[in-house]
Amino acid sequence: MNENLAYKKKTVYEKASKDTVKAAFEYAEDYKKYLDGGKTEREALKLSVAMAEAHGFREYRIGDKISAGDKLYYNNRGKNLFVFSVGTESINDGIRITAAHIDAPRIDLKQCPLYEDGGMGFFKTHYYGGIRKYQWVATPLALHGVIALQSGKVLEINIGEDESDPLFYINDLLPHLGREQAKLPLAEGIKGEQLNVLLGSIPDGEENSVKMNILSILNEKYGICEEDFLSAELCVVPAAKARDVGFDRSLIGAYGHDDRVCAYPALTALLESTDSAHTLMCILADKEETGSDGPTGMQCDLMLDIIDELAKNLGGNSAAIRANSKCLSADVSAAYDPNFPDVFEKQNTPLLCCGAVFTKFTGSGGKSSTNDANAEYIGWLRSILARDGVVWQAGELGKVDCGGGGTVAKYISKHNIETIDLGVPVISMHAPYEVISKVDLYEAFRAIRAFYKY
Ligand code: MN
Ligand code: MN
Repeated sequence: MNENLAYKKKTVYEKASKDTVKAAFEYAEDYKKYLDGGKTEREALKLSVAMAEAHGFREYRIGDKISAGDKLYYNNRGKNLFVFSVGTESINDGIRITAAHIDAPRIDLKQCPLYEDGGMGFFKTHYYGGIRKYQWVATPLALHGVIALQSGKVLEINIGEDESDPLFYINDLLPHLGREQAKLPLAEGIKGEQLNVLLGSIPDGEENSVKMNILSILNEKYGICEEDFLSAELCVVPAAKARDVGFDRSLIGAYGHDDRVCAYPALTALLESTDSAHTLMCILADKEETGSDGPTGMQCDLMLDIIDELAKNLGGNSAAIRANSKCLSADVSAAYDPNFPDVFEKQNTPLLCCGAVFTKFTGSGGKSSTNDANAEYIGWLRSILARDGVVWQAGELGKVDCGGGGTVAKYISKHNIETIDLGVPVISMHAPYEVISKVDLYEAFRAIRAFYKY
């Protein structure tokens, strides 16, 4: 029997060298720091800019001159980043693009958030992205974001990350009184308007009001008044830090692996790709979790504007550049979970530790609303990944009729750019604390390195 006849999925531990596994564990250490320092798109962007600058990249503004060899980044409103290096080959040969997102599901404050009830002060919230609401109660939370004042000054808020900081909290019902709640479907057990964030309990001396006391504290500390919340973007995120999971420390538990587990390898791969003749681009997008709308989401035309500028400056043609470009839409997939076998079709579901995942199409039943990568493109990817011995697998998000999901792939491929989804399998995706495998993270990095190189 010829052993090569049948395709067999194997783990990175079986297929890759001991050195590669060791390198994966080392790579994971800096990834954990990136997770802890970048819990919102604004914070992840700041970290990413610092990393790019440390590698010699400088800020670009639309209209600036661009030349071969330039290493540039475009900061779109502090939430969406384009990092790109101009190669030596003709710009009409296309751009190697990766696009990951740096926003993650969380709980945003409403614009008039503050109130008190029952002797407690609270913030009213409106959740961001696809959260399972019951997972966000009775767990330590932190407050991150900005308050833009009328003066033009922007205050940065980050409370709950330092050990000495206070935390925030969303109340849950005690089981003793939860008989009726326990009968509700999971999605209705906690409702959106119950996701109110606990802020304090000391009444102000004169007004005898907890709300007034909180406003006094905020005024003293930040110089703000209640009206300033109208122009704020404040997010409630899990306070937990990224930690190794398991006796063998092979896994990482953290908030926001989706999609920093792809953003980080996409960015670091580009920063290390000084050996490439291609023009390279890494896009870190915002608003993926809410549909990629708005000026910082991938449905915005900014990518086209930057390609136009590259064409203008380098003597190329935008349409030709796009026609010859290739893209990895770098986003996560759901790993097979033996706790929930009913929703997975095991043969086509990514398995933990089996490497980077290529998802030919996303969407839901009947392949609706999705990019569907061309076989020829996947054939080319197979060839370059084989050259570098990258361990990868094909994956589809669960059983055909169980649900579905999308990525930014379709917003890039619609511009005539060859695109496929590449990512890392995740356990408990969109939960406040998700789990990924260190070797899968590193194979995603190695896959993107090969993509930028060949
Ligand atoms: Mn994602
Ligand atoms: Mn997501």
